[in-house]
Amino acid sequence: MGQEIQKALDEAWLKGRSVLIEGKVADYIPELAKADSSNLGCCIMKTDGTMYKIGDYNIPFTMQSIAKTFALILALQTAGYDKVFSKVGMEPTGDRFDSILQLELKDWRPFNPMINAGAIVTTDCIDAEQPFDAFLNLVRKLCGDQSIFLNEAVYQSEKRTGTRNRSIAYLLKSDHVLDKEPEEVLDVYFRMCSVMATAKQLAHFAMILSNKGIDPKTEERLLDADIVRIVIALMMLCGMYDESGEYAVKVGLPSKSGVGGGIVAVGPDGTGIGTFGPMLNKKGNSVGGEKMLQYLSDRLKLHIFA
Ligand code: GLU
Repeated sequence: MGQEIQKALDEAWLKGRSVLIEGKVADYIPELAKADSSNLGCCIMKTDGTMYKIGDYNIPFTMQSIAKTFALILALQTAGYDKVFSKVGMEPTGDRFDSILQLELKDWRPFNPMINAGAIVTTDCIDAEQPFDAFLNLVRKLCGDQSIFLNEAVYQSEKRTGTRNRSIAYLLKSDHVLDKEPEEVLDVYFRMCSVMATAKQLAHFAMILSNKGIDPKTEERLLDADIVRIVIALMMLCGMYDESGEYAVKVGLPSKSGVGGGIVAVGPDGTGIGTFGPMLNKKGNSVGGEKMLQYLSDRLKLHIFA
């Protein structure tokens, strides 16, 4: 079985490489434009401790939107379900990740926590003395690596140029959706997006989610099963921007992508997958990562609806 998985992974990587040319690295955050367009890696982790890896699975990149999953977890842990979902919805939008189109139509309550407006709201909800420190601790714990750190250059780059997120935060504040000051919330949000992770660390996070929140090594419960259910369901519905529906048909795994090139995908039965490839398609998803996941899902029969 192990050999089968590694063989599928090797093949998936070749498939992924063949489509890199179709993508483009994100450049709306200036620092992200420096990404190495040839990078491609993947890691699969299972609860029995086995790990399969290929290519640039150990190269750190900024999490970007993948941070939204951790922000949601932390908001639910510290502020609770009722507070969080009184301010943000659970529905996919079909719009761009940074869209403001539907905000006014919905009384300024963002559609879901996986779009920028929704993540700015969940960030505001985090009830902790030092929200970013609490976030970093959570990421380190769930990714199984205490060395995870903030990329200061990307954080500064996004803070300097993030006019769209700044506009969203001020709009939300003007309609009393944010409790804290916009700049305070944005600072935490920009930092969260700029935390570095590898495909291997994301595979660990996905493995914990797939294992219903329990660390198989220590048998410690790291996350409430209810929180895992909420996060995975929202990843499935809204995790791949306005490509979530097509991705659900083709790949069929609860996933979250980020414009840094990462995808975290929750497989069945304690299987976690992390991919990295900064060449993105028009929707902002990693072309190589998606291709590898589609191949793996098919070859290893991971699709949850198949
Ligand atoms: N930091 C990015 C932003 O807010 C995250 C976007 C993404 O990965 O989709 O614009």
